[in-house]
Amino acid sequence: MKSLLGDLEGFIIFMETVVSGIRPTGSLHLGNYFGALRNFINMQNEQNCFFFIADYHSLTTHPTPIDLYGNVRQILVEYLAAGIDPEKATIYVQSDVPEVAELYLYLNMNAYIGELERCTSFKDKIRQQPQNVNAGLLTYPTLMAADILIHHATKVPVGKDQEQHLEITRTFGNRFNRMYNVDYFPEPKAFNFGQELIKIPGLNGSGKMGKSEGEGNAIYLADEPEAIRKKVMKAVTDAGPTVPNQPKSEPIQNIFQLMKVVSTNETLSFFEEQYNSCQIRYGDMKKQLAEDMILFTAPFRERIIAISSDEAYLSKVARMGKEKAQESAAKCIQEVREIIGFR
Ligand code: AMP
Repeated sequence: MKSLLGDLEGFIIFMETVVSGIRPTGSLHLGNYFGALRNFINMQNEQNCFFFIADYHSLTTHPTPIDLYGNVRQILVEYLAAGIDPEKATIYVQSDVPEVAELYLYLNMNAYIGELERCTSFKDKIRQQPQNVNAGLLTYPTLMAADILIHHATKVPVGKDQEQHLEITRTFGNRFNRMYNVDYFPEPKAFNFGQELIKIPGLNGSGKMGKSEGEGNAIYLADEPEAIRKKVMKAVTDAGPTVPNQPKSEPIQNIFQLMKVVSTNETLSFFEEQYNSCQIRYGDMKKQLAEDMILFTAPFRERIIAISSDEAYLSKVARMGKEKAQESAAKCIQEVREIIGFR
């Protein structure tokens, strides 16, 4: 009995807290799956996980109430369909935990305009949507820091695009600790199972797969087979290699990278050889890629359809998650208020 308890204590001590979220701005795509969700599912068995639906974050895009509600529900369905287990991990909606907004306010008081303006994601947004450069976009890293620090997380499973934001989270947590002379917030690290952080490319030749990267760029977990075929067949390619072992252009590297994550090693090697010997027919490669993507996404799509109609289950999951996340966040905010000097 004694040794069993000893083992159990050891296990509890080594459980780290994990936080990550996805914005409800549309369905989840393969980039979300490989960059984030796949890690969520692996981590939920051994860590204390909080996975949220980042609806505050999505307000920078000014959704209508109906769209906001529908998108939050869709992400909840897709989290569950992808394999996040609400009995193992805490799944919650960000706005169900307003303590996050309170911590965001405190952290913003010590966040400097210069450091926020230097963020690559903010610079990208200025370029992409010059007509809507709002303060929410500028302070996105502060809200993200609040999301993570509120649960004292140490591991954050995110894609490569979030590395800089994680650095800022550490800066803000450490700044708070120094300012109030406390050892309160831990240093969270970006996390990806096994290898380095991953970036899944889109189908339009350059950049990452993303919801806002243009029509036809992303393959969604909920996509119908025909939609996948159409998008993949339209993927950008080049004129083909003219000499053996020619370095690949970016659009071709992207197609190979996508094949690497959804196809078998044999399929990938076959097309590598074809490319290196200048025999490749991109049409054949894209046909194969589309079929492999359809095979890969089919089980997700089936579960999405099944869970989507189970209103009672969805409400129960959201309620359970809200309670657990609020408990953790309320404790943090109480302590933070005391540290700051609110009595
Ligand atoms: P977002 O859709 O921007 O809210 O991103 C949610 C999560 O998915 C974050 O952890 C991102 O790092 C990850 N993610 C989004 N797009 C990609 C991509 N193309 N490749 C890898 N990870 C991604």
